[in-house]
Amino acid sequence: LNFQNARFVTSAPDIRHLSADEGMEVAFAGRSNAGKSSALNVLTRQKSLARTSKTPGRTQQINVFALDEKRRLIDLPGYGFAKVPLEMKLKWQQALSEYLQARKCLRGLVVLMDIRHPLKDLDQELIHWAVASDLPVLVVLTKADKLKSGVRKATLMKVQEAIPGFGGDVSVITFSSLNKSGLADMEHVLFQWFEA
Ligand code: GDP
Repeated sequence: LNFQNARFVTSAPDIRHLSADEGMEVAFAGRSNAGKSSALNVLTRQKSLARTSKTPGRTQQINVFALDEKRRLIDLPGYGFAKVPLEMKLKWQQALSEYLQARKCLRGLVVLMDIRHPLKDLDQELIHWAVASDLPVLVVLTKADKLKSGVRKATLMKVQEAIPGFGGDVSVITFSSLNKSGLADMEHVLFQWFEA
């Protein structure tokens, strides 16, 4: 398993259009602007695999990246756009909870959050859905470079203290796409999920 081998396979307009439920998938989710594309690019050592700085409010596609014949990374659309109509938001939430419940090849969910704004309502909801489906969750606190060491550690501890409240298998790391801190931790977790 080599994340560098990631290649773009396809974009799906929604969860129901994903390819056959075979092999193994790990999904990446987060509020828009959380740093998901940057993290995916760092993980795969590719400058523009996942496009950064997308137009806010646009309907986004689900991007599928293959690591090898069996393993895929699923880049879910960012959530939390203020401008998106409520009806679309609810539809998306419904589809997402279905995906987390029904997708057998799903091995885990990575939820990325800006370390300066962790555990917003939708983040928490997502974690609850994953735990309810017996999926392990990795909370990635992104843009760790934006905080001084003391504040960074305090935030990590605060989030870690909230984790038992979710039950299930939830772990937390800090991450920076800028200086690649946390990359080894992320890879370690993904290796475990993909090997199991
Ligand atoms: P996405 O919408 O979740 O895919 O977020 P992006 O990856 O496009 O990042 C949103 C913005 O945050 C961009 O301006 C990135 O350059 C910036 N960003 C992402 N990751 C980091 C990071 O680790 N450190 C810093 N300082 N900025 C970051």
